[in-house]
Formats: sequence, C-alpha cells, structure tokens
Amino acid sequence: MGGPSDHFAGDPYRNADGIRRVVREGLCHRCGACIGLCPVGTFTIRDGYPYPVGECIRCNICVRVCSGLEVDYPALGRLVHGEGYRFGPLTGPTRSVWIAHATDRAIRAGGASGGVATGALAHWLRRGEIRGAIVTAADPNEPARGTGFVARTVEELGRTQQSRYTTAPSFAALAQIRDEDGPFAAVGLPCQIHSLRKRQAMDPRWISRVPIVIGLLCHYNLPWEVVRLTAELFAPPGAHPVRCFSRQKDDRGWPCNTMEIHYSDGSVRRSPFSPAATFNVISRVAPLGRCLFCFDACAEFADFSVGDPWIRGPDGRWKYHSSEGFTLVFIQTEQGERLWRRLLEEGAIEGFQIPFEEFLENGQRDMIVEKKERTALRVRVCRALGRPVPRYPVALPRTSPRQLVRELLFWVTRLNTVSQRWQRLLLRIGFGPLGQWLLRRREQGRERVARRRAQRKAGAAAPRR
Ligand SMILES: Cc1cc2nc3c(=O)[nH]c(=O)nc-3n(C[C@H](O)[C@H](O)[C@H](O)COP(=O)(O)OP(=O)(O)OC[C@H]3O[C@@H](n4cnc5c(N)ncnc54)[C@H](O)[C@@H]3O)c2cc1C
Ligand code: SF4
Ligand code: SF4
Ligand code: SF4
Repeated sequence: MGGPSDHFAGDPYRNADGIRRVVREGLCHRCGACIGLCPVGTFTIRDGYPYPVGECIRCNICVRVCSGLEVDYPALGRLVHGEGYRFGPLTGPTRSVWIAHATDRAIRAGGASGGVATGALAHWLRRGEIRGAIVTAADPNEPARGTGFVARTVEELGRTQQSRYTTAPSFAALAQIRDEDGPFAAVGLPCQIHSLRKRQAMDPRWISRVPIVIGLLCHYNLPWEVVRLTAELFAPPGAHPVRCFSRQKDDRGWPCNTMEIHYSDGSVRRSPFSPAATFNVISRVAPLGRCLFCFDACAEFADFSVGDPWIRGPDGRWKYHSSEGFTLVFIQTEQGERLWRRLLEEGAIEGFQIPFEEFLENGQRDMIVEKKERTALRVRVCRALGRPVPRYPVALPRTSPRQLVRELLFWVTRLNTVSQRWQRLLLRIGFGPLGQWLLRRREQGRERVARRRAQRKAGAAAPRR
C-alpha cells in the first residue's frame, strides 16, 4: 500500500497556520476534512471555511489530508486501485457503467437522479452492514449552504437526498466518528474523497472505519454566497429565502427537477431551466476558485460513483428521461463491483449495464475532457506566473487547440465576477426572457448535433451494396 508523498518538511504550509494559508491563497474547496480529521478539534466552520478557534498540537494532519493543497494521484491510485493504476484516462479506472434506480419508490422519487446513493445506504443500514453514513443536508443556519452529518437511520437519510450544488464542508462530520470503530460509508464529491483517502493512506484505522465510499460526479460546485445572492435577487419585496433546493422534482421528474427557492412569505420561485442549465447560468457569475484546478470529474477513488444520465438518444433528446428518475453509475473498484452485484442481487437497486462508449460519445465527454485538459492548462499557466496552485506530482495532460480556444472564451465570461452589480445584472438577464431564448437555442443546437452524429453513425454502420 502506498502513501501520499510526505514532502512537507520545511514547507510554508504547516499545521493550523498552513490551513489558514491554504484558505487565504484560494486553494480551499471547502471539503471540511481538515475540520473533521483534526485530532483535537482546533477548527470550527466560518462561512464554510475552516477557522482555528482551539489549541493546535502541531501534528500537521490537517495539512497532510488537505486535497485543496495537494492530490498525489499515483499514491492514492495505488492505495485504492493497486499497482496498475495510471493517472490519465478520462473517467479513471472504470470497470463498468450502469443506468439504475433505487427499488424503494420513495427513495427513488426523492433522489436527485434515481436515488441510487441513498438506496444503497438505506439497504446497508437496514441490514446492519454499516453503522451510519457521512452525508450532506441543508444547513439549518443558512439555506443556501450544505452541512455534513452522520445519518444512523433510514429516516435520517431522507433529509439528505438531492444534490446541493453549493459549498458544503460536509466532511467536517468525520469528527463525529473519530472515536468509533465503524464500519461507516461516506458519500462525497471527488475532492472530499481525495482528502479522506489521504487520511486512510496515513492511518489504516480510517480504512476500517470508513470502508465504503460513494462518489458524486462533479463538474464544478457553486460558492454558497452566489446561490444566496441568486435567491435574494428573485425574492418578493420584504421576504428572504428560507429553503433552497437545487433539485426539487415536480410531476415531470428527471431532468426537470430543478432549483426551487422557498421564501419567508410562503411564496415559491422555480428556475425556468433544467438543473444543469440553472447551474450553468449561476456559474457564469460565480468565482469558482479551487474548482478551476480540479482534474477529477468521476470520483476516481470512490468504490462506485453516481451522476445524472446526461446521455442523448438518436433523436438528440435525453435518452433516459423519466418521471421517476435514473442514476448513472460508474463502478470504480473491485470492492465497488462486489457491492454493486450484491445491491442488484438483494433487490435494493435495479439497473442495466450500458457500453462505456455510449456514455462517452453521447454523454458527458466534453465536461470530463474540459476537467482534464483545461485544468492542466490553468495549472501550467499559474505555475509559470508563480501563483498559488495545487500540487499535482504527475505529468499533466496535454491541452488540445480546441480546448485552448474554449478556455480563452471561458475567461472572457469570467470578467463577469468583478462586481456584485455585474453579477446581479447578468443573473437577471440569464434567468430573464433573453437568457431563456439563448438557452433554448443552445439546447436545440445540441439536439441537432446529437441527431446528426447518430445519423452519421447509422449510415456508417449500414451494410454496403
Ligand atoms: C456539486 C455537485 C456537482 C455535480 N455535478 C455533476 C455533473 O457534472 N454530472 C453528473 O452527472 N452528476 C453531477 N452531480 C451528481 C448528481 O447531481 C447526483 O448527486 C447524482 O446523480 C446522485 O443522484 P442519486 O439520486 O443517486 O442520489 P441521492 O439519493 O439523491 O443522494 C444524493 C447524495 O448526494 C449527497 N450530496 C448532496 N449534495 C452534496 C454536496 N454538495 N456535497 C457532498 N455530497 C452531497 C447527499 O448527501 C446524498 O447522499 C453533482 C452533484 C453535486 C453535489
Ligand atoms: S492539531 Fe494537528 S490537525 Fe489540528 S490544527 Fe493543529 S496541526 Fe492541524
Ligand atoms: S480544502 Fe478541505 S482540507 Fe483543505 S483547507 Fe479547505 S476544508 Fe480544509
Ligand atoms: S470541481 Fe473538484 S474541487 Fe470543485 S467541488 Fe467538484 S470535486 Fe470538489
């Protein structure tokens, strides 16, 4: 078993001050792991960031687990996947791809997609195979933010369903199981899993404490402050947001389950767009910070990871559109494969396997390529400029000319984040009639491209006379 490189001696990032420096330099993605894994509870959460309030015994654990500062892919790969691991393939070492849903109808209906993440956890909890799960729920003190907790019953899991496209330092909840034996499961974003795996590489007790890890696919996350700004912008006069849902379902189901804000006067506002388009409008004005330097779209170090079935059919529309919902599942590890087979055999999950090419060609290829190639470009540029940048002790992927152009266009839109007045104006335009028209046209364009691609493929596959 390999460990992450320990080249922190003489490092400017040391102990609690090192974590403050990570935050100051914009490298913190707010996973919460340093808060949860500090053995003496030095940190509290302030505005979603770690903030030292107690004594520090200078063990440096917080800095060594911080995946905002460093992700040693080869070391984590050896730990999770064995010696054969190589950094580079788009989705990580994926064994198979599935379209699936929880068989429990309430869990499926409550899920962001098909309720697979919660369906699996509920099944293991009912059978006594785990003592609890580290999950994310709405923060009772700030509706635009998420918070972590340890769900120990199926009822508690109910509060955690749906994705929160907003910062949630949920791995701070690891502090609640620091003195327990486990086994626990954890659900997290790729960066949160990096931090947990780093701790597991340092101390195998954390492997037996949290032996099961479910990952979420992740493009970017939104700072909660921008979600709050959006919610306030559309508030009726005198009212304030009391609940923010990123993925509230209506009777059309997935993928129409979208952002919905509930206000103090009882009124409700719902985004006119799908969740992905809503996310894209808000992300235009959000300072995405550390997410811009993230390579991992598919949670390479999870046992299995879950996402939305954004896969187009031959007519260019979403092939797995369903009022009940489906989850896309990547099986990543050997253990993940065993767990998955059992979930199917024991009836907790139903699903069918799809070819990897179907996902890649008609699914989220662009997003994953962007995360690999454009992140590499950003890291190279920042290194050259001497700007703070996460440490990646790997050969960085090359960036194609196409991605270079797309990156330049992307940075033009980044100018939007310079002032709150700009942000407000652009949010109003984005969610107004002009934004709706532009997004409709973009969606129609994408459907056309997918249709043409399917027709070309069908033509190429037809037997020649
Ligand atoms: C920030 C973010 C970005 C995402 N980006 C993509 C993407 O680009 N492509 C894609 O296919 N899928 C993406 N997803 C995953 C997708 O939205 C669903 O979470 C996934 O399909 C699982 O659906 P489900 O119905 O099986 O899960 P459910 O049964 O609804 O369970 C969801 C689980 O996610 C956890 N969770 C919710 N919000 C957070 C959060 N902020 N941080 C950590 N854990 C959380 C909950 O604790 C719960 O365990 C993203 C999710 C998030 C939170
Ligand atoms: S006690 Fe250890 S983990 Fe906690 S803040 Fe200090 S160095 Fe970090
Ligand atoms: S990235 Fe995570 S571990 Fe690092 S400082 Fe931020 S919250 Fe702590
Ligand atoms: S993009 Fe990367 S750093 Fe940002 S939330 Fe997703 S996994 Fe974490």
